[in-house]
Amino acid sequence: MFQNQYDIIVIGAGPAGLMAAIESGKSSGGILIFEKMRKPALKLKISGKGRCNITNSANLKDFISHFGKNGRFLKFAFAEFFNTDLLEYFEKLGIRFKLERGGRYFPQNNSAMDIAKALLDKAKSLNIPLSANSEVIDIAKSPDEKFIITINKNTQRIQIKADKVVLATGGKSYPQTGSSGAGYKLASQLGHTITPVSPSLVPVETKGNTAKKLQGLSLRNVKVKIWCKNKKVDERFGEMLFTDFGVSGPIILSLSKTIVKLIDDKQKVFITIDLKPALDHKMVDQRILKEINEHGKQSYKNLLKRLLPGKLIPVFIEKLKILEGKQLNQINSEERKKLSMLLKEFQLEVTGYRSFDSAIVTSGGICTKEINLQTMESKLVKGLYFAGEIIDIDADTGGFNLQAAFSTGWIAGRAMKVSTQKTGSDLE
Ligand SMILES: Cc1cc2nc3c(=O)[nH]c(=O)nc-3n(C[C@H](O)[C@H](O)[C@H](O)COP(=O)(O)OP(=O)(O)OC[C@H]3O[C@@H](n4cnc5c(N)ncnc54)[C@H](O)[C@@H]3O)c2cc1C
Repeated sequence: MFQNQYDIIVIGAGPAGLMAAIESGKSSGGILIFEKMRKPALKLKISGKGRCNITNSANLKDFISHFGKNGRFLKFAFAEFFNTDLLEYFEKLGIRFKLERGGRYFPQNNSAMDIAKALLDKAKSLNIPLSANSEVIDIAKSPDEKFIITINKNTQRIQIKADKVVLATGGKSYPQTGSSGAGYKLASQLGHTITPVSPSLVPVETKGNTAKKLQGLSLRNVKVKIWCKNKKVDERFGEMLFTDFGVSGPIILSLSKTIVKLIDDKQKVFITIDLKPALDHKMVDQRILKEINEHGKQSYKNLLKRLLPGKLIPVFIEKLKILEGKQLNQINSEERKKLSMLLKEFQLEVTGYRSFDSAIVTSGGICTKEINLQTMESKLVKGLYFAGEIIDIDADTGGFNLQAAFSTGWIAGRAMKVSTQKTGSDLE
């Protein structure tokens, strides 16, 4: 079924592994991809809610800033293979793209399946074999400096040798797609340091039943701030969602990295939602005063209807403790101030965050200092390459994570091609 030996073994058929395999210039006999799941690229197929937000139009500096402190590690990879290169790459494979809000690129037909298919078809056309249902459970180095890879396939144990190995097993998030963190163990067995991993881009849990009462409510154009020890630590503007356990949605996911760190540090964390970010406190108060002056005979519930989405009205009434039938001209200044305060700073206490099962990406992973950023080759183990989310890189939502997976895969593939060519000419 398998040869005893290959030039390259790629572990993991996600975007990073597939790209590395395709760009390595190898075909049948020289390369083999192992994928532990029955089907390859499961996470890619569900990315962007099935629409695949493949990359972002941000310029290089801005793009890198979305990765936080480890963004520097990606500078070279992005300089060599960036957003326009990625779009052109897939356009050559027959995919057309459209640009949406926030610089997000999606395939024109909104099909993540088609992105995965294009990549898998390309690998097939290059005669790159992919062995599914094949979980790599061990990698070791033999005395002749070759890698010995042990695979579990249909309960059978098989050992294969290779000159080069690409570890592209992803992170620990969404383990149902195959990325269960196994790659960290394989890398640490080979001597690599794993920066502690935690869920990132993850929904957040909040105290009490306020979120549950608002479950399903999506708020657009709000500003969410994170507070710790009475200090604002972070903030984002955009869209969020209430769930039965707390909050989620794009800006909460982006803020979750900060929240996870604080919670792990045993800090008390609060979020406030500014429901009227275009108006400052004074302007909100003036707006309410105007309503009181113009519609004094109306009930205060009517005012709430003009200010808020329906689901928020009973929650506001409960928090303000003002009888809903009270006329606007009976509202005193203290009650008015309480209302404007709640509109600007609707507060929830954070109690925790969801597990890896519902995290979009993993923070932490293979320490970037141990990887050559120009080749993605390990600085510790010759012939071992890394690509994608297994590396300690993670970014905001917006197409940044997939670009990183594709760019690092592309760099690893190219480096293996170049080094194989060099070895070839050395022998001549
Ligand atoms: C729900 C969801 C939506 C997302 N949407 C977006 C988006 O729209 N845009 C964006 O930029 N990012 C998105 N992401 C993040 C993005 O999908 C990942 O960062 C990206 O898939 C990482 O690619 P990868 O190839 O490194 O790892 P993965 O895609 O996780 O692939 C790793 C592969 O390795 C296999 N594997 C693991 N261990 C072994 C083993 N021991 N042996 C053999 N095979 C193994 C796994 O089965 C898997 O197929 C999303 C993530 C999730 C969970």
